[in-house]
Amino acid sequence: MRDTSVLNWPFFEARHRALAAKLDAWAADNLGGIDRRDTDAACRKLEAKLGEGGWLQLTAPGEGNERLDVRSLALVRETLASHDGLADFAFAMQGLGAGPISLYGNEAQRAAWLPRTRAGKAIAAFALTEPASGSDVANISTSARRDGAHFVLDGEKTWISNGGIADVYVVFARSGEAPGARGLSAFIVEAGNPGLAIAERIPVIAPHPLARLRFENCRVPADAMVGKPGEGFKVAMATLDVFRTTVGAAALGFARRAMVETAKRAATRELSGAPMADLQMVQGHLADMALDIDAAALLVYRAAWTKDQGVARVSREAAMAKLYATEAAQRVIDTAVQLHGGDGVRSGHPVEMLYREIRALRIYEGASDVQKIIIARAILSELSGANA
Ligand SMILES: Cc1cc2nc3c(=O)[nH]c(=O)nc-3n(C[C@H](O)[C@H](O)[C@H](O)COP(=O)(O)OP(=O)(O)OC[C@H]3O[C@@H](n4cnc5c(N)ncnc54)[C@H](O)[C@@H]3O)c2cc1C
Repeated sequence: MRDTSVLNWPFFEARHRALAAKLDAWAADNLGGIDRRDTDAACRKLEAKLGEGGWLQLTAPGEGNERLDVRSLALVRETLASHDGLADFAFAMQGLGAGPISLYGNEAQRAAWLPRTRAGKAIAAFALTEPASGSDVANISTSARRDGAHFVLDGEKTWISNGGIADVYVVFARSGEAPGARGLSAFIVEAGNPGLAIAERIPVIAPHPLARLRFENCRVPADAMVGKPGEGFKVAMATLDVFRTTVGAAALGFARRAMVETAKRAATRELSGAPMADLQMVQGHLADMALDIDAAALLVYRAAWTKDQGVARVSREAAMAKLYATEAAQRVIDTAVQLHGGDGVRSGHPVEMLYREIRALRIYEGASDVQKIIIARAILSELSGANA
């Protein structure tokens, strides 16, 4: 049994406890039996199932929820990740992909897309990274040139989750209002746009739909811009400010699953004539894992709760949550693999799958090194403000 004592912490309300319990039961009943051999088809199916189950309602405000509730998003990701990495991915990408529209879109944009992404009837993607600028976001070079009632996009995006299966891409491009970060804007680009091509599908260690996109003379109406001209960087960062914490929550879900698998193994495996769990060195590993998990949970739900209190930006808290939870989950899962012996590296074993699932979380939505820079800059600016 996964440890759910976190739900009794003061970060949560009764509705969160009810949500987590209901989703746990739903996931146990609904996520098995999906054929994973075709990742694209599996993802589409998961998106539809999550939509039918009503879970995607949480990924964008409206229809009862007036704003994104980060604690709910984080609890859903933790729970889904502990059951199924691809289901967590499908949920998360609807939120991240539609995030710029739900946070900055105008009424027409929100009405056009959010009811469909919330129902799992349209798949969303967030296209920021480029071949020459991943961590260095302010340096992106995909251009958006105004041409009468249109903008014309040219350039490449890469590592785009849901690339190839998405119906709608939010694309960040250089519109040139100012140099660097202040010269970017965000645009809605529909999958059928003739100027958008899937240049490459990218296979990764834990299969997810990913692609490199090419924009060639890609014309979008001027009203496809999300937010104001030159606000693209702000739109991207505000979206990440919400969803980065939830990457930590997914890592937490993976780590909790590793803990469950390891505790089962330690209780049932005999070593030198006694249960493995009796060995003190094994107990030491279990204690380290539990400590990492609880510390990660505290940081994740501190960041989620803080954002839900109406604080405009939680960059420091979100960066701490993502950094600590993803690094901790990697340690926890590595220990789980070790304590499973040969079975830990057997293809298809739950801990082998977790070992592959966790790795990318330390890289995307800002690598661990980048989170350290965000934290350090926030501390330095707080200190210089205090000393001024
Ligand atoms: C599975 C997966 C899914 C993704 N999904 C999306 C998506 O949906 N949309 C999207 O736009 N992007 C997506 N990405 C891209 C992801 O955000 C980038 O890969 C990430 O930001 C790192 O950029 P990069 O790969 O260009 O690495 P680089 O920028 O070349 O960085 C390489 C490494 O250098 C280190 N580093 C970087 N900057 C610094 C620094 N200032 N100081 C010290 N060390 C540093 C870090 O360890 C980093 O991992 C995804 C990536 C992966 C792997």
